Amino acid sequence: MTRALPDDLLKLPHRTDVPFARLTTLGVGGTCRWLFEPTAEHEAQAFVTACVRESLPYRVLGGGSNLVVLGDIEMPVLRLRFPAELKRDGLKLSAPASFGHIRMAQEAAREGLSGMEYASGIPGTTGGALRMNAGAYGRELVDILDTYRFLTPGGELVEKRPAPGEFNYRWSFLARGFVALSFTVSLIEGDRDRIQAQVAENMGKRGSSQPLSKRNAGCIFKNPTGTSAGRLIDQAGLKGFRIGDAEVSPEHANFLVNHGHATATEFAELMDAVRAKVLEMHGIELEPEVEIWQED
Ligand SMILES: Cc1cc2nc3c(=O)[nH]c(=O)nc-3n(C[C@H](O)[C@H](O)[C@H](O)COP(=O)(O)OP(=O)(O)OC[C@H]3O[C@@H](n4cnc5c(N)ncnc54)[C@H](O)[C@@H]3O)c2cc1C
Repeated sequence: MTRALPDDLLKLPHRTDVPFARLTTLGVGGTCRWLFEPTAEHEAQAFVTACVRESLPYRVLGGGSNLVVLGDIEMPVLRLRFPAELKRDGLKLSAPASFGHIRMAQEAAREGLSGMEYASGIPGTTGGALRMNAGAYGRELVDILDTYRFLTPGGELVEKRPAPGEFNYRWSFLARGFVALSFTVSLIEGDRDRIQAQVAENMGKRGSSQPLSKRNAGCIFKNPTGTSAGRLIDQAGLKGFRIGDAEVSPEHANFLVNHGHATATEFAELMDAVRAKVLEMHGIELEPEVEIWQED
């Protein structure tokens, strides 16, 4: 049911009725009824404060590269649109949460700074990467994280260093209603050509092992301890299994791809079918790595 929003919230930059097909890499879902796009921290803080005051639940969206949206979302969605500026201070590099994660890795390489090469094929924003503690090749964002700024669920602005227990495999405590605003990573001086070559190699590896020509949301399921979700799905004979335009990629079994006109329902059914088959064959319950959004 559509709910009227208070005037102070409506004064913040926003758009209405934006299809999630345009906001996510997978390209399914209904309509985003209210998309708030603050261009400065104080606007993001005003958004959170107003939502708290009104007891209004909201969601935070980054690049939409780790999302499966099922249907319309009526609650306000916050997507930061801060100026895309990186700041360098010695070996430290800071980015606003709306900055592209891959672009940050490329800029670090251009500066001759090593440590972000792992991120060169991980799409989305740095804010989404922080929330997900994104990683690859045995490295993850928390390994290089120096400080980060965020809004608490109550709207308080905090800047701090990471502490034990705050970041884990594809998880951070920001999942509990926090909004990442920016962060600083601590890198090491390296040989620019070598770092840039590593960045290019990591991008190339992905092109040959992942179905990047089709819309997707990366790995759909987390790797269970000691094994790979892709291997389990492959062994269950599911590569190429298709419901409508949603398919288990024949190239990489942990990628579900959209052939163009897939619906959210088809993806939900495909995910359920994959989990059921893997449970039946291997006795292992796969847990989604992607976040699933639907109106409660
Ligand atoms: C082709 C492909 C390859 C991928 N490879 C990898 C990989 O190797 N490793 C890996 O870890 N991931 C990978 N991913 C998944 C995805 O790119 C990462 O999880 C990414 O960090 C998500 O960022 P995003 O901005 O797109 O977040 P979204 O998908 O927009 O959101 C993901 C979650 O983060 C939250 N969020 C977003 N922004 C903020 C913010 N500012 N503050 C608080 N919460 C926020 C959202 O609420 C949601 O819970 C891949 C995805 C694709 C499509």
